[in-house]
Amino acid sequence: MAAQKETHQFKTEVQQLMSLIINSLYSNKEIFLRELISNASDAIDKLRFKSLTESEILGKDTEFKIKLIPDAKGNIFTISDNGIGMTHDEVIENIGTIAKSGTFTFLKAIEQSKNQNTLAPELIGQFGVGFYSAFLVADKVTLITRAVGSDTATKWESDGQGGYSIEETEKDSRGTTIILKLKKKEKDEPDFTEEWTIRQTVKQHSDFVNYPVVMDVEKDEPLSKEEQILDKDGKPIEPSTKKVIKEETLNSMKAVWAKDKDEVTEEEHNEFYQHISHDWKPPLAHIHMKFEGTTEYTALLYIPSQAPFNMFEQERKHGVNLYCKRVFIMDDCKELLPEYLSFTKGVVDAPDLNLNISREILQHNSLVRNIRKNLVKKILELLGSLEQEKYEQFYQEFGPILKVGIQTDLPNKDKIAELLRYKTTKSNGKFISLKEYVANMKPEQKEIYYITGENLTILSNSPYLENLKDKDLEVLLMSDPVDEWVISELREYEKKPLKSAEKGDLGLEKTDDKKKDEYTALFEHIKKHLETMIREVKPSTHLKGSMACLAGEDYDMSAYMEKILKSTGQDAPAIKRVLELNIQHPALEKINALFEKDNNDSRINDYADILLDIAIIGQGGKIDNPGRFSKIMGELMTDALDV
Ligand code: ADP
Repeated sequence: MAAQKETHQFKTEVQQLMSLIINSLYSNKEIFLRELISNASDAIDKLRFKSLTESEILGKDTEFKIKLIPDAKGNIFTISDNGIGMTHDEVIENIGTIAKSGTFTFLKAIEQSKNQNTLAPELIGQFGVGFYSAFLVADKVTLITRAVGSDTATKWESDGQGGYSIEETEKDSRGTTIILKLKKKEKDEPDFTEEWTIRQTVKQHSDFVNYPVVMDVEKDEPLSKEEQILDKDGKPIEPSTKKVIKEETLNSMKAVWAKDKDEVTEEEHNEFYQHISHDWKPPLAHIHMKFEGTTEYTALLYIPSQAPFNMFEQERKHGVNLYCKRVFIMDDCKELLPEYLSFTKGVVDAPDLNLNISREILQHNSLVRNIRKNLVKKILELLGSLEQEKYEQFYQEFGPILKVGIQTDLPNKDKIAELLRYKTTKSNGKFISLKEYVANMKPEQKEIYYITGENLTILSNSPYLENLKDKDLEVLLMSDPVDEWVISELREYEKKPLKSAEKGDLGLEKTDDKKKDEYTALFEHIKKHLETMIREVKPSTHLKGSMACLAGEDYDMSAYMEKILKSTGQDAPAIKRVLELNIQHPALEKINALFEKDNNDSRINDYADILLDIAIIGQGGKIDNPGRFSKIMGELMTDALDV
């Protein structure tokens, strides 16, 4: 036991560390509070654990708390706990040196990092450097601690420059008090003697710490009758309130995720969800799981009931916060979930991370990868298990982002495919799954038909579908831009290829070769006339009632895709399409007859122009020369209407 004051030099690595902390974290000074609260909470945890077997050690001091005492006049900030405390030797061991073996690696990592300012503040908790973060805000740190079961206390003091002093002192209760003589603050820097700043910082970083973090605050309280001064008429003279000091708990302490999952009520879920998401609508569903294996972690995840307005913005934050033993490490933890599930909000608490993580390290951390894999699995399972109505609500909101996973998460492609829903030509406005589609397929049907386009009305009335509808074949109506990417990656479902209803030959029936031959000359002529616009003229496999449509080859970009690219300002290669003409149509027969009579008849070219316009209009496109179209139409009607 040291009765006298001793002075010690810091070990070199402590000095190195301290200057690094101060240099790389100067813009995140407030984290010192998180670190000290976290240490205090750990100290209480340890004591609580010890008291499980030695209940007498607590004495009368059984109300665990962490007290913050700001002193604006003296520019001092004090934090005090009634945890396990430290003996003289423990102080030297814990505070004077860096005992942790990882520290060296940590120092190297920081040194090697080109720009120290980009180092995430999360690093600070790593390798046990938390206490030193006090020097981010303090010129001088005084720690007074009394270990449980000890009569004497130890005072440790340092200006963070070269060394520290240590001496025996007195303290009237168990635990640790740390007094920070704050630096003179620069303009725009937070003032940690200010109530609001302290409240904010605790809320943000330590809200779910398991013990009350308290502070004395001044409150207005109504005066009692006796205290009230009355005027001559017996009326109270203002003010009718007095200032009183009240101890207030600043953190909610509700580590909802740490509770047994059956013990968390719906209200608690809603409240917690609100707290982390700032979304006032209750979540649609949640997952609460404790994973206990070689690695331990808890996850509490929520599926929101509505999409954020900025769902597709790059800068949007991901909704998962990472905690370590109820201590907040970081929000926006992109490493824990892939982009296509980033609508999920919640918390992952991984004790094994040991506050031991930065964003850089996260990406390469096998525990994090493990957690991520598992979370994806659980979320996809949850979505798959939602009752239909809820799932559809989810799908309306988040379907477009979920679908991205088909392209970006190949190992889970099949699982995501199960979650796809489409309206079809036969579903009467209802969503169906691919599984349902396949179950409804005709015995001879080999392919899953789909069509992509801007909206359901255009799609369901599309001339491309005439023949398919006539044969009672179901077609998936895909009206979401993302569907184009879904199709390009999915290609088949349950071994049934996906087949565009607007591209290539539908191959629904044998074409009548003889009849086709009758049209060869006319089609050649039309092709020549429209050469700059189209690639080919062919008898249609799509049409039943309509005369003309434009079709792509199987490998072509769809018309909708072309439109999407153009609308986003990207260069879409101009694709010449195939003009498909319906040789069963009486009008076509008449044009052919006209052509056979006189292949120089000028009307043939007019009709060719009109056929192309009709094809374009039929797919919801814009024609080049609407004026000419309406003029020719007028003439045709005049001719047709012989009354
Ligand atoms: P870490 O908390 O990561 O171990 P710190 O530098 O913050 O690293 O603290 C070093 C050690 O000092 C802790 O592990 C703990 O044993 C001790 N310590 C720090 N703060 C307290 C406290 N408030 N009460 C008791 N012990 C503490």
